Amino acid sequence: MNNILEVAGLNKTYEKFSLKNVTFSLAEDCIVGFIGVNGAGKTTTIRSILGLARKNSGKISVLGMDMDTHEKEIKDRIGVVMDEGCFYGDLSMDEMKSIIAPAYTRWSNNDYRDFMRKFDLDPKQKISTLSKGMRMKYSLVLALSHQAELLIMDEPTSGLDPLVRSQLLDIMAEYMKQGGKGVFFSTHITSDLDKIADMLILIDDGKIEFEKSKDELFENYRIIKGDAKLLNSENKKLFLSLKVTNYGFSGVTDNVVKAQKSIPDIVIEKAGIEDIMLAHIERRTHSV
Ligand code: ATP
Repeated sequence: MNNILEVAGLNKTYEKFSLKNVTFSLAEDCIVGFIGVNGAGKTTTIRSILGLARKNSGKISVLGMDMDTHEKEIKDRIGVVMDEGCFYGDLSMDEMKSIIAPAYTRWSNNDYRDFMRKFDLDPKQKISTLSKGMRMKYSLVLALSHQAELLIMDEPTSGLDPLVRSQLLDIMAEYMKQGGKGVFFSTHITSDLDKIADMLILIDDGKIEFEKSKDELFENYRIIKGDAKLLNSENKKLFLSLKVTNYGFSGVTDNVVKAQKSIPDIVIEKAGIEDIMLAHIERRTHSV
């Protein structure tokens, strides 16, 4: 399988924050969810990939081309949805579209009209009068109307109501069916990831904590509960995070087999994406 996006050794330093050697890849036919707490570095990573923030070092390849030398060709072939969405408020959505469309060699007015209808947007409405959700939908329509091979989106589902969010997820799934495409999107909404992500990448304090398939995560991680008296310094090491109260302990492990062997009478439950993400972050904050 080819990699549609490759990020290698990306470093970007702000005064009080830095991306540290961020490295990951996205294979074709894959939807990747990019997760992390507020301020972890998701937007900075996306902006650096797109050349909207100047990286200090690192190599970004998109569709086999180097972003530093092929930015124009790459941007013609990818769809981007960023929170800020740079539009002229005085124009209608159709007028804005007429400015944007010529920038793309494979722009399709048919696709544009179809998506505007699907998202229930009125092409004559002025951009300054759009709600946050409508603006996001409009950005999505533009990203989807030029046969992009990769979609890069920063929190595309935030601010959307459940109905539109579900429509967007269906559209993403439909988009992927064409084959040879990829989607990279950041989100805080873990139910979206449950529904459509194939891979998850967790960034924490500017560093990639893991890059794993969703199936692998669900297979390997468990929440374990039991009597706190059964814990000792050795078996405690099996947990990424551990909470002990008067009633007992509850912890997240990625080594359930060993935990079963070394702690008797435990209750084992499935771990969700949020549990796994928080356990990794807790481990880091307790070990530094
Ligand atoms: P959220 O989930 O809240 O959107 P995020 O993971 O996208 O967060 P970033 O927006 O990448 O996080 O921010 C990471 C850190 O970089 C934050 O501490 C932020 O203050 C800092 N930062 C972002 N942009 C700049 C900038 N232009 N100048 C200085 N610091 C910045």
